[in-house]
Amino acid sequence: MQTELRDAIAPQEIERRRNFAIISHPDAGKTTLTEKLLLYGGAIQQAGSVKARRAQRHATSDWMAMEQQRGISITSTVLQFEYQGFLLNLLDTPGHQDFSEDTYRTLAAADNAVMLIDAAKGLETQTRKLFEVCRLRSLPIFTFINKLDRPSMSPLELIDEIERELGLATYVINWPIGTGDQFRGVFDRRHQQIHLFQKTAAHGSKKATDTTISLGDPRIESLLEPELYYQLKEDIEILDGVGATFDLEAVHQGKMTPVFFGSAMNNFGVELFLESFLEYGLKPTPHESNKGLIAPTYPEFSGFVFKLQANMDPKHRDRIAFLRVCSGKFEKDMVVNHARTGKTIRLSHPQKLFAQERDTVEVAYAGDVVGLNNPGTFAIGDTVYIGEKLVYPNIPSFSPELFAYLKNADPTKYKNFNKGVTELQEEGAVQILHSTDESKRNPILAAVGQLQFEVVQFRLVNEYGVETYLETLPYSVARWVTGGWAVLEKVGRLFNTFVVKDRWERPVLLFKNQWNLDQIMGEHPELELSPIALPP
Ligand code: GDP
Repeated sequence: MQTELRDAIAPQEIERRRNFAIISHPDAGKTTLTEKLLLYGGAIQQAGSVKARRAQRHATSDWMAMEQQRGISITSTVLQFEYQGFLLNLLDTPGHQDFSEDTYRTLAAADNAVMLIDAAKGLETQTRKLFEVCRLRSLPIFTFINKLDRPSMSPLELIDEIERELGLATYVINWPIGTGDQFRGVFDRRHQQIHLFQKTAAHGSKKATDTTISLGDPRIESLLEPELYYQLKEDIEILDGVGATFDLEAVHQGKMTPVFFGSAMNNFGVELFLESFLEYGLKPTPHESNKGLIAPTYPEFSGFVFKLQANMDPKHRDRIAFLRVCSGKFEKDMVVNHARTGKTIRLSHPQKLFAQERDTVEVAYAGDVVGLNNPGTFAIGDTVYIGEKLVYPNIPSFSPELFAYLKNADPTKYKNFNKGVTELQEEGAVQILHSTDESKRNPILAAVGQLQFEVVQFRLVNEYGVETYLETLPYSVARWVTGGWAVLEKVGRLFNTFVVKDRWERPVLLFKNQWNLDQIMGEHPELELSPIALPP
């Protein structure tokens, strides 16, 4: 190694860090849980500072208007808070209105995922989709089943659904006593203690007072209705009898999920959850690179860009690249190498976004995320490093579900149109596909969320001066053909399927729906298809 090695990284900086993302379906209570976690983290005295983030769920047009008005970007950010000496990084994933590829990519920077489920609804679509990405990365998953204070599915049914439908083993850490009006608390299996539920005033904006009693305490009889007490004893027997034994290694491999019940709104079960998460969650892990595994304690700084954010306000047209630190120590104004371009760059104005405020980051370690000024320097997946060259693997393209021809309203602006489309594609704002029919030159926008279309059109006007319109295509499923064009030719004509090519000229099949896809797969078992593609 040519460069002199920096000081070794203090292992306690790595030991105390936990980084995670919450995966959930809209309305399961993610904003509420986030607020409560921050409350326990002492980051804010009264929960509620996350309110601005609530606005994210307004219509997309409002979202853009808000960005303009506020002059800063309010889409998903990274929240950092401390709890009992630990440092937690919560990588926020946006809600449904702004569901985009960024939501998936954020999971590429996470070490753990918290799967938040509404107890009345069980598993829902967006949770399942995000879970699949977690599985791909073998992320440890912690399940928090929320809203027990409301009428719920039976807890055993909820557990069974996770096991059966996600193929994920469960280990219940705390178990609810009653649900809805009869919700009385949770039983903590680790300490064999009952935590009694008390509704908190003011929608749980203060920490809940926690009353605990041990299972053998005679006071239980006066505190719990007899039927709830006997139900609990029966449930515990079932869990102890047929439930799996706790296997931390399986948790770390994403094969077993610790399960918690509670009510985020009432702050109930949140602290119990947090304590177990800190104990069982993965601390920053080594990352695969072209040089093999890079440990978080590797003394040279390195990291990769997993998300880009463009400000919609033309007056503050700043763009931010979010970088996950993988090794070494990040310092403000440090000069680093950019693996893709071979250039050296100074990382000035690094920032972390905390709720509504931006803070300047002075130092950061593995597991942290910093927002960097991005005047077009960074693309999704870029590696930056100091010392010996290393490259982290690219972030895959995720299966788009919305497709539309993008048309240029003013043909005299074709140069700007092409430039804009190419740059937005490179930046990872949207995927671009093309018809194999040479006469159909219009690019096909392919996105996982409607917001991506709107952002692309908005930015084309504001940054490239081009008005565009969309012609929606009637497809909802995309699959890459693993064997390439040769395989496709052998298969011959496919009915109800649109054959297109991606930016690397690889074949992609578009289907109207899952049913059409299943039919084609049934007819052509030789056709190997993938919902996700890595850049070549
Ligand atoms: P998000 O879309 O996942 O961010 O969901 P929110 O945190 O905004 O919550 C959606 C709704 O569920 C809001 O009206 C919350 O007040 C409510 N909510 C969240 N947690 C609980 C809970 O534990 N119990 C009850 N009864 N309502 C809850």
